[in-house]
Amino acid sequence: MIEIIHTEKRKEKPADQSQLGFGKYFTDYMFTMRYSEGAWHDAKIEPYAPVAFDLATTVFHYAQGIFEGLKAFRNEKGEVRVFRPEENFKRMNRSAARMCIPPIDEKFVLEGLYELLRLERDWIPTAPGTALYIRPSIIATKVALGVHASSEYLFFIILSPVGSYYAHGLAPTRLLVEDYYTRATVGGTGEAKCIANYAVSLKAGEEAEKKGFDQVLWLDANEKKYIEEVGSMNMFFVLDGEVVTPELVGSILPGITRKSCIELLQANGYRVSERRVSIDEVIRAQKEGKLNEAFGTGTAAVISPVGMMEYKGTDYVVNGGEMGSITKWLYDTITGIQTGRLDDPFGWVVKL
Ligand SMILES: *Cc1c(COP(=O)(O)O)cnc(C)c1O
Repeated sequence: MIEIIHTEKRKEKPADQSQLGFGKYFTDYMFTMRYSEGAWHDAKIEPYAPVAFDLATTVFHYAQGIFEGLKAFRNEKGEVRVFRPEENFKRMNRSAARMCIPPIDEKFVLEGLYELLRLERDWIPTAPGTALYIRPSIIATKVALGVHASSEYLFFIILSPVGSYYAHGLAPTRLLVEDYYTRATVGGTGEAKCIANYAVSLKAGEEAEKKGFDQVLWLDANEKKYIEEVGSMNMFFVLDGEVVTPELVGSILPGITRKSCIELLQANGYRVSERRVSIDEVIRAQKEGKLNEAFGTGTAAVISPVGMMEYKGTDYVVNGGEMGSITKWLYDTITGIQTGRLDDPFGWVVKL
């Protein structure tokens, strides 16, 4: 049972949908659920508001927390469309297992999300390139400083109307190939969507930004040789006609946009390989004129073309700094399916 606590208070919705940015505005309601004494309970949809925590709460000290990110869309027909939500809650339970967090009932939480979205449908922006970003999270809430998995948790879902992830929209990005810092190692938490993964990546991101780059391209931690992923995106290259994405070796986050791209490409006759790809192979291809395209994939940015990569002080331009045709096709196809502009042959969209 989900209790709904109604409010008469309504925040003012951002007037200009072209200025939404990413994750700056939050809606009127949130979904919350507590875990204690071995069970999830007290599922509620309640007015969005700050929550107070004791400063000895586990998550503040030992980062026992996970999150998800997915999007809902609303089109001219008034349809509310959610993109592959089951995948996110499945992944959330995989992340939970890695972080010693008890599993959630995926069906129950999905129903909670749909209920929340029905209540908040007017918050879903409709302008091209906009969406309602959905952020489910679980944090450890036991008040204790001992280093143990918590016995108490808060699950919540908050919603944020968003525009394009990058200020410059779909313009090709500049990546710095990081050859010192590491994000994740095999056996670590790279394949879990845990909050600590982001804390460890901030330093490299900040240094790259100071040098004028949009994102860091991570290499494997052991050899600093194989490409892993980019910031909050998985990475794809088109090398002499072959679409290549790093295989999921344990240190790479298994993106749902990544999976969707692979499925779309395969269904349309493209050759797609999930395999190890080294930075040397990519640079060799670039020098031989065979690095046709490079792009990142993730819920926030959807598909993000890469126009340039710097590695050990040398710049490597991709496709003349322009977005490639496969990149563009994937962007148009995925956003088309999300918004209902195109058919949904895979049944990816849940309509409310
Ligand atoms: C969430 C995330 C992605 C992208 O996953 P999607 O399911 O496509 O949104 C990629 N890399 C990292 C590190 C992430 O946290």
